[in-house]
Amino acid sequence: MPVKKLTNIDLLGQTIKIIYKDIDEGDWGQCDIDERTITLNNKCLKDKKHHWATLVHEVTHMVFELSGVAYMDRNDEEAYVRCVENLLIPWILENQNLLQ
Ligand SMILES: [Zn+2]
Repeated sequence: MPVKKLTNIDLLGQTIKIIYKDIDEGDWGQCDIDERTITLNNKCLKDKKHHWATLVHEVTHMVFELSGVAYMDRNDEEAYVRCVENLLIPWILENQNLLQ
């Protein structure tokens, strides 16, 4: 089943544009803070789960960049992004029952 393309998403009150294109070097996605744009590789459209996972990954980059965390002297942003997407977000999704 093909994934429905997004045109934009709302992120904490900001509109983030979503673009689909073929990206070189096997990257799944890119995040451009200045343009408030997330680019997703066309190959994401083949699989709902890849599409969701890549969107979550790039949204996490955008959050770190909007928050300023990405601009620390030593930028370990990719590690933080992976921590949030692999540990925090799955836990939140699995534990929504705790939201009373
Ligand atoms: Zn990344």
